Amino acid sequence: SRTPAVTQLLALDSLLEPDEIEIRDTVRRFADERLRPHIADWFEHAHIPVRDLAKELGGLGVLGMHLDGYGCAGLSATTYGLACLELEAVDSGIRSLVSVQGSLAMFSIHHWGSEEQKLEWLPRMATGEAIGCFGLTEPDFGSNPGGMRTTAKHHGTDWVLNGTKMWITNGSIADVAVVWAQTDDGIRGFVVPTDTPGFSAPEIHKKMSLRASITSELVLEDVRLPAAAVLPEARGLTGPLTSLGEARFGIVFGSMGAARDCLETAIDYAKTREVFEKPLAAYQLTQAKLADMAVEVGKGHLLAYHLGRLKDRGEITAAQVSTGKLNNVREAIAVARECRTILGANGITLEYPVIRHANNLESVLTYEGTSEVHQLTIGRALTGESAFR
Ligand code: FAD
Repeated sequence: SRTPAVTQLLALDSLLEPDEIEIRDTVRRFADERLRPHIADWFEHAHIPVRDLAKELGGLGVLGMHLDGYGCAGLSATTYGLACLELEAVDSGIRSLVSVQGSLAMFSIHHWGSEEQKLEWLPRMATGEAIGCFGLTEPDFGSNPGGMRTTAKHHGTDWVLNGTKMWITNGSIADVAVVWAQTDDGIRGFVVPTDTPGFSAPEIHKKMSLRASITSELVLEDVRLPAAAVLPEARGLTGPLTSLGEARFGIVFGSMGAARDCLETAIDYAKTREVFEKPLAAYQLTQAKLADMAVEVGKGHLLAYHLGRLKDRGEITAAQVSTGKLNNVREAIAVARECRTILGANGITLEYPVIRHANNLESVLTYEGTSEVHQLTIGRALTGESAFR
């Protein structure tokens, strides 16, 4: 693969260590060779071979790559972010698969789980043999998950779960679901094997965004689990919100992959497309668009790298991750839309990645905390006033 224009413009690789660049390039090569040739078809047909891909991504070492032990690679947060960036340069749906597996499902078990839960699930999830999902959102509770209606009640020593989760990535293909539910003791997390009687996961169809990603409901009807199914270390909303912070961090990088891919496409297109007898790239209006976008994509990379270093030093705060997610997804979607204008009518087809990225980024803008929720989080950090309710 050639070096992207924005990487060259700002010498972005000078901020990375040689081993980070090596792993990043390995993921980029895999993404370009194994994923890119198929992604438009997967998106068009809303069909992605998740089982096969999970095993390949596991072989590549990116599933739970920032976790230690249990078959995970134990790499830095920055390296994980760079992998997310390269995968999302192909499609946000692929990055979602890796985020949900590694940062939501595996991280929750790794961070909040018992030794037995970790030994049972993490090694198989790291190789991609077992697929995980993360059930927090409900039909009536997205930005305010604290209101959730799913319950887990004691029946003798067992737990019995009832409720419905909505918009759950990989729900219908998962082997294990991390499900959050109200108990007498506040919100707790549960490790739910998806073959437990009473568990079903109907797929959500007719999506216009993230079509190369499975999204499902989770329906829990008297799902009976042993006492050992609860995540022992997670209490209250801190549990799911900490896990979400991990995935959100990956999006700070990932969204810049989508933006970079749009910009590369627009630059190439503008250089070869002739209008009024000269290349589109030779017009000042086009160059102004490309320059402004390169500035934003470059700044987004710098922000991501900075947050990566803070996270690797163990210093990152939730408001900082919110700042990265708010800015980088907002700018990525603006870049995708602007690139679409440069491609003219060709920009609306799946022959080019641009409208696919733009549509995907609509979901990315909403999940892992909407832009408004991140504005409120940053606002609270700036003022000390919580304006959520
Ligand atoms: P709402 O919470 O109803 O928000 C609607 C609007 O109100 C938004 O603009 C929001 O910003 C705004 N709003 C909310 N609160 C305030 C406020 N206080 N002040 C001002 N404005 C406000 N969830 C999971 O648990 N697991 C998954 O794997 C998962 N995958 C997903 C995959 C996809 C493709 C999508 C689209 C969603 C996924 N989600 C998942 C759900 C996602 O996290 C929620 O959609 C998100 O939290 C927003 O919730 P909502 O859609 O109910 O919107």
